[in-house]
Parts: sequence; structure tokens; C-alpha cells
Amino acid sequence: MYMTFLNHQLYIDQINAYIDPMVPRDLAIITHGHADHARFGHKKVIATPETIAIMKARYGENCAEEFQSLPLRKTIQIGDIKISLYPAGHVLGSAQVLLDDGKTRIVVTGDYKRGHDSTCEDYEIVPCDVLVTEATFGLPVFQHPPAEQEIQKLIQSVNDNPTRAHLIGAYALGKGQRVIKLLREAGYNKPIYLHGAQRKLCDLYQNYGIDLGILENVGHRNKAEFAGEIIIAPPSALKDRWSRRFPDSVIAMASGWMQVKQRARQRGVELPLIISDHCDWNELLQTINDTGAKTIWVTHGREDALVHYCKTMLGLEAEPLSIQGLGEGEEEVG
Ligand SMILES: [Zn+2]
Ligand SMILES: [Zn+2]
Repeated sequence: MYMTFLNHQLYIDQINAYIDPMVPRDLAIITHGHADHARFGHKKVIATPETIAIMKARYGENCAEEFQSLPLRKTIQIGDIKISLYPAGHVLGSAQVLLDDGKTRIVVTGDYKRGHDSTCEDYEIVPCDVLVTEATFGLPVFQHPPAEQEIQKLIQSVNDNPTRAHLIGAYALGKGQRVIKLLREAGYNKPIYLHGAQRKLCDLYQNYGIDLGILENVGHRNKAEFAGEIIIAPPSALKDRWSRRFPDSVIAMASGWMQVKQRARQRGVELPLIISDHCDWNELLQTINDTGAKTIWVTHGREDALVHYCKTMLGLEAEPLSIQGLGEGEEEVG
């Protein structure tokens, strides 16, 4: 068992810093811009330049008193602790945090995935002694198909239903841009329509050089104009009045949770697209193996199954973290 300088609340006592704290803190190291990681009101934030830009876009310029931009693979030292960020492959700017006191290397993954995603830097293996991993899809039943294959289903459905609009539920940060990029990479070149809530972050992505092609606002266009078109909207908009303006729409949703048929049915999803920005079970095991970590802390999801597997099948030290404020609500997860 390592004597770690990081506790189970992801707090580093000797430099008074937290990773992804849920309440305002003096010093917060933020892995990425999703609301269950990046919060408003810290005194000082350390994050990648992209994550800082995303936080400012979502919460306002003054959402923290001070920002320190730490680009990927650069190191800063505070007290005895070296801090560096490595790509997590989750959304634009997402990073794993490497903490090194000269004796122990601890990696906190934040949210991550192992597959390629053209809207952010791909995950990088960071060897460590202690791995703090998320486990959103930490059950053997979760096996994510290739995203390209899911996008083909969407394109097929658009071709098969030229009179219907396709309304895709996708979170505004990350998933929306990834779906658009996957469509572009599959050769879909028509304008793609955006719900108002999707615009700001799509523009931010484009400003960071991620070409999403022509994006139009839904605005107040005539119903008939949406026949055969693709519209990206937040999942919450799929069932509200807003969505009724589209003619006989095919409701789709892009999420790792779409593997669970009951969830798709509950949300009235006709076309479930299993597109996840998190590791599936095999990717979690792959990562544990790749990092060489002998101690695994599991957070953010299905902790118990992965902890059990690490102990009994892999012979590793493993513990669940029960971080307060996490786990309720699935907004932005999946
Ligand atoms: Zn996330
Ligand atoms: Zn998360």
C-alpha cells in the first residue's frame, strides 16, 4: 500500500489543492469542462487552455478569481509536487492529471476514452503507481461499438427517410461536436442545424481549429425546410415543445447509455446511437494494464465491479472513492 499524498477526496494537503472539486476551493486542478468536474467560484484554477476557455464560455469570464493555464505535457511544481496534464481523449481540452512527489506517481484520469476522436487529442498512456480511474461504464456488459459504425446507421436512416427530420440528442460539450465531426468524416457535407444551446461551444471548437463544416441555427425557419435534414439538440430538448416544430422527426440520441434499450425507450428514442466519450469495460482493464499501476482507486460510476475485478482477478490494491456531490443526475455523463 502506498502512502499517498492525495486523499480520497482528491485533495493534496501539502499544497491545499483539489482535483475537480464540487464546491469552491482555493486551488482547483480541473480535468475538463463538464459540469460534474468544472464548477464556478474557485479562487484559482489550473487547467489546459482549452478547458479554461470552455469554463469561461459556459460560466463567464470571472468564474474563477485566477486562472493558470497549463498546456498538455508541461510541468509546474508547487511545493514538492510536480503537476502535469496529459490528454484524456474525452472532450476538447480534457486532461489526466499526473502528480509526482519524486517517490510516487499518481494519475487522476478524469473522464476518458481510448478510441480515436478527431475533436480532441487522443488519450495518452501515463505510467504510474496509483491510478485514479473513472468507471462510468464499469461493468463487463458495456462494450461500445465503433462510433463510425453508429454514424453509418444515422446516415442510412437519413437516406431512407428523405421526408423526415433527424433530431439528434447530444450534450452541448463534446458529444455534439463529435457527432458532427463523425458525420463530416463519413462524407456528410450538407449544413447541419443547431439548437441554440449548441452554438457557443461549436463556435469555440471551430476557433480551436476543429472544422465542423457549415452549421446553421434552427432559428425560425419554415417546418418544411427540415425534411431530410439533421438537427443537433441537447437531450433535454428532445421531448419539449421546441422539438415539435420538425416534421415527423426521427428522434435519435448519441450516448453510451443507448446500449441499454430501456433507457432509449424511456426517452422515446427511435434511433439509439451508442457513441460514448467514456471507456467501456475492456478499455478500463486495458488502461489499468497499460499504466502498470499497482493501486487502483475507482470513482465516478460503477466502482464496485471494477474494484472487485482488480482485487480478485488482477491481484491489485483497489478501493472505491465515494466523492460527495458525484453520481446524482446523468447530465453530461455518457
Ligand atoms: Zn466528462
Ligand atoms: Zn464526468
